[in-house]
Amino acid sequence: METPESTGTEGAVDQPPSRRGRAHYFPDVTDEDWNDWRWQFRNRVTTLEELARHLSIPPGEWDLRQSVLQDFRMGITPYYLSLFDAGNQDDPLLKQVVPLREEYEHRDVGLEDPLGEEQFSPVPGITHRYPDRVLMVISNSCAIYCRYCTRKRIMYEDAVPEVEIDRMVDYIAKTKTVRDVVVSGGDPLNNSTPKLEKILAKLRAIPHLDMIRIGSRVPVAMPQRITDELCRMLEKYHPLWINVHFNHPNELTKEAAAACDKLLRAGIPLNNQSVLLKGVNDTLDTMKALVHGLLRMRVRPYYLYQCDPVRGTEHFRTTVQAGIDIIEGLRGHTSGLGVPTYVIDAPGGGGKVPVSPRYMLDYDREGGKVILRNFQGKVYEYFEPREVPSPVAVHARTDSGESHAAPKAEDPSAPVVGKSSWVHRGTSHKKDAEAQGS
Ligand code: SF4
Repeated sequence: METPESTGTEGAVDQPPSRRGRAHYFPDVTDEDWNDWRWQFRNRVTTLEELARHLSIPPGEWDLRQSVLQDFRMGITPYYLSLFDAGNQDDPLLKQVVPLREEYEHRDVGLEDPLGEEQFSPVPGITHRYPDRVLMVISNSCAIYCRYCTRKRIMYEDAVPEVEIDRMVDYIAKTKTVRDVVVSGGDPLNNSTPKLEKILAKLRAIPHLDMIRIGSRVPVAMPQRITDELCRMLEKYHPLWINVHFNHPNELTKEAAAACDKLLRAGIPLNNQSVLLKGVNDTLDTMKALVHGLLRMRVRPYYLYQCDPVRGTEHFRTTVQAGIDIIEGLRGHTSGLGVPTYVIDAPGGGGKVPVSPRYMLDYDREGGKVILRNFQGKVYEYFEPREVPSPVAVHARTDSGESHAAPKAEDPSAPVVGKSSWVHRGTSHKKDAEAQGS
């Protein structure tokens, strides 16, 4: 059967033509400018005055929002802003990047460096927390500034000096246990293609480094950056992976899908890391729409992060139960590929700790028995492999002429609550024992 040619935009969610879109916000911008990532970057909305040209700011909030901006800058590309519904103050994309009253109210709650990255930093820009991999920060700027960002403390928008980057590369070259580097920021893809290539080439020249990963929100916030030239350069440095960062189905536009498609065609596997955000994506329906859209775009949902306790982000944080409920609602109810690992990055540098619903209700190690709960809440027993006497041993006779009976298998039919057609190992053991005449 003939399959229609891919347009690369299969996962895109059609945006309602309401008060959003380029035609609504930027009717006079030419295609040439709009599709030029440098134009997008240069024309980011960075002040309240610029924001007020596009969105209404509630009376009485001007000063407090201004005060928030003294702590953490704003940056919104025209493309990302065009996805907002102008009439909706609760728009899930707007909330991620526009400073709001809640951020002001929580400005003294939380930590500057909740993951303790600075204490695991052997040289500036490197965080070495896990044995075989390091984080390398090569940019202090982003296309958009997410209000919940864990690294908001470093967004100076100064280029990271080459001498610092060389020190980071040196550290990796000297540390032979490192086989995986996560190149991050800020956003590494804000660098020019030649500058980025220079860094990747230096990393690729390190013999013990297996893989390079880039963490970027550019395909979400400024998909114009994913040019053919960039992809041609990136594909020279395989194995190269990219972690993208979609949080909401409204971010799955045709432009974002096309950007991901280009990267995938350059042989770069894409994994998505979302942050669980109250009022943005903390419902099962939203998360299901997101993971389904990502899978259509061939982007694997990888991590769902519990929001870090960063200063000024208390209003974004959900309970841990909210995350567990989402995973519970996904696991078994949709493709396993669409279920991200839900993690809490342990404050103070403990690293990522996976958290999941409880599916193993009991584990009797001595008896080799596991009690499991499936996605429907039904309960099953699983038996681990155990030594079954061979037929020779069963019929071996002692000097007295007595025959050893095979050990009686434990009754495996104990408290299985749920009904299953699965013939588990316990039943097999029983049948084996019966066949052997015990
Ligand atoms: S794109 Fe990433 S690094 Fe940049 S502000 Fe957002 S979360 Fe932080």
